[in-house]
Amino acid sequence: MAEWRQGGYDGVFYLGEKGTEQYGGYVVRARGGTNPEVWFAYEWDASKEAHAWVGRATTAEDAQEAVKGEFLCEVYRDDVTGHCPWPGVIVRTTVYRGERLRMILCGAHSGVMRGWERVRIEEYRTEHGLIPNDPIIGKRIIPPLDLPPIGEAVLKASTLAERNAWIALGNVVRPLADYAYWRGHYARYPLDVNEGPRSNAREHWKRAQERAEGMYAVYMREDYGQNGAALPPDFLRLVEREAVAHLKSQKRGK
Ligand SMILES: [Zn+2]
Repeated sequence: MAEWRQGGYDGVFYLGEKGTEQYGGYVVRARGGTNPEVWFAYEWDASKEAHAWVGRATTAEDAQEAVKGEFLCEVYRDDVTGHCPWPGVIVRTTVYRGERLRMILCGAHSGVMRGWERVRIEEYRTEHGLIPNDPIIGKRIIPPLDLPPIGEAVLKASTLAERNAWIALGNVVRPLADYAYWRGHYARYPLDVNEGPRSNAREHWKRAQERAEGMYAVYMREDYGQNGAALPPDFLRLVEREAVAHLKSQKRGK
């Protein structure tokens, strides 16, 4: 991982060493001693061999966040599940009373703020700048989730029914990540050719999810004598957490 280092003079930092594969870009303080300070962030685009402006902030640290930044969906879902954790793929934006408003959205939420202009995230960044994790009318809220990773739960299961339920839950992770990817892709490129993969991915995910629901019901019946148990929301959040991690590990978020 490239690290930030002070440049040749005060007021500039580079991410990694220029000319190397790790190089990510730089931030520079505006000249002229403005108050508050203004820092501009530029990201290196290796494919174009050029820097692109990606953000403006009042501290070097915030500006650094914009370079190779990670952008998450800004939709607040509810008190149980908190903010949407999926990668942002588009920006909805409008100008209201002279001020530009914008919201970063994942594929699933790309229909929110209907009527606002819809721009792919990288295009918005190079035109208006974008700082990751800007306050979203307050801070990002992630309610705590007190469940072990699914792989661990499988190993620790004390009955066959419990083990099967965890395995079925684990089998939802990848299809959910794929479905999120294709929803995002379709939100960015709403073409007929992308509709097929999206609905296939949705079918795979639905089947895996239904199977997990069934196995959970079996587990609750066999081990606890409870009939018709529904999958608890925390279990769905656990699957989502692992699917988000899976999607990010594949760098397929966009
Ligand atoms: Zn979302």
